[in-house]
Amino acid sequence: MPPEPVGDAPWPPPPPPEALTCPKCKAKVESKTDVQTCKCGLRFALHAGPMLDSSLVVASTGPVADIVRVKSDGAFVRHFGQLDAMCVQEGAFDPVIGHIQLDGTKIAYKAVYSLAFWRTLPIATLIASILLLLPFTLLCLVWFFSTLDAAALIFAVPMTLLAVWVGYQVIGVRAHWVRVVGPKTRLVIRYDRPGRRRRRFHDELLRRCGIAASPIP
Ligand SMILES: [Zn+2]
Repeated sequence: MPPEPVGDAPWPPPPPPEALTCPKCKAKVESKTDVQTCKCGLRFALHAGPMLDSSLVVASTGPVADIVRVKSDGAFVRHFGQLDAMCVQEGAFDPVIGHIQLDGTKIAYKAVYSLAFWRTLPIATLIASILLLLPFTLLCLVWFFSTLDAAALIFAVPMTLLAVWVGYQVIGVRAHWVRVVGPKTRLVIRYDRPGRRRRRFHDELLRRCGIAASPIP
């Protein structure tokens, strides 16, 4: 039973201002089932959560639901995003003992106002690969083609494969982000690592919030 309205306060309380905004430029936008493009150029998907759409039914996962965890590197600490049985959580790993998770910030699935998904170019990885990987790979290839020395292949082949793989990750896959807006806080989680879990994280987050399946924008 929702609490009775008190005095003149509106009920239900208005959603947080950020709930229906572009995740990049914060312009006001509507939630849609499809991918949309903001006037700032960002392609993103914005889904209304159970707090905005009372027809959504949060999935009853039970207390032993699978935990789906993604990780990302920050400037100084590693971050994690996690789907627990009843809530989505964002936090950091202990900077000293790297694999210990510190307590994160949580939002219950039923308290979600909106989910916004988008992708960005991972600038730090892009710069690192241009500065480090690309010159070394080109050097190996020039060495091989100028000498046709078989020994050069030992370096040229793995370096070329690595450069192609990193190029695909940076430009093709990109960094995947989700913004979860709750009543008092919002979480921003990078969810593309490990790669085998990004689709599951995206699909499970939608499912547990009761939102219809939708492609990653
Ligand atoms: Zn925008």
